[in-house]
Amino acid sequence: MRIGLFGGSFDPVHLGHLLAASESADRLVLDEVHFVTAARPPHKRPVAPPEARHEMVVLATITDPRFRASRIELDYPGPTFTVDTLRRARRLWPEAELFFITGADAYRDVASWKEHEALFDLATIVAVSRPGYDLGRLDPFFRERVVVLEIPGYEVSSTEIRRRIREGRSIRYLVPHAVEVYIEKHGLYAGDLEG
Ligand code: ATP
Ligand code: MG
Repeated sequence: MRIGLFGGSFDPVHLGHLLAASESADRLVLDEVHFVTAARPPHKRPVAPPEARHEMVVLATITDPRFRASRIELDYPGPTFTVDTLRRARRLWPEAELFFITGADAYRDVASWKEHEALFDLATIVAVSRPGYDLGRLDPFFRERVVVLEIPGYEVSSTEIRRRIREGRSIRYLVPHAVEVYIEKHGLYAGDLEG
């Protein structure tokens, strides 16, 4: 088994995430990609509650047989650090080959991640390209170890989607239809005061 863990706050999940996960699955020949919703990311405060973000991930991943909506971080108390998640994954799937996947922008501060040196013994660490972020300035220690996957650029972010909702603009074709309906049904992001 080759399992990818795709980490994010998914606030909300969008088509850029699905494209990144699908490209990673194809190129790394993964059997499964688990979308790992960060419950309490140490470096940022999500807008929507963890369970709502997870439910949107369930809706977004339901039609792809390779995709799973993971609770591996949601069901543990306290701040969630990647190294702890990977150790849990190793215990859950001792025989699997693990890949930890996130976008290039996430690695800008990788040197400050908890026990960052241990990450590379637990999984293959993968950075998918993202428009506007280049990994060229990454510390050589990480540059040698992170596997970079060039994927088609799709310039969409959750921040942009939340902004559009606040402004009463459409998010159609940026998120899966079921996620759009879910956001509307639960009134998410409309009164969000960020930015
Ligand atoms: P926010 O604007 O709230 O930070 P985001 O769009 O960056 O949201 P995250 O949940 O932070 O979404 O992203 C999870 C992972 O997916 C991150 O590692 C991020 O780099 C990656 N990612 C998000 N959008 C894209 C995209 N359009 N192309 C490639 N990677 C992406
Ligand atoms: Mg982000």
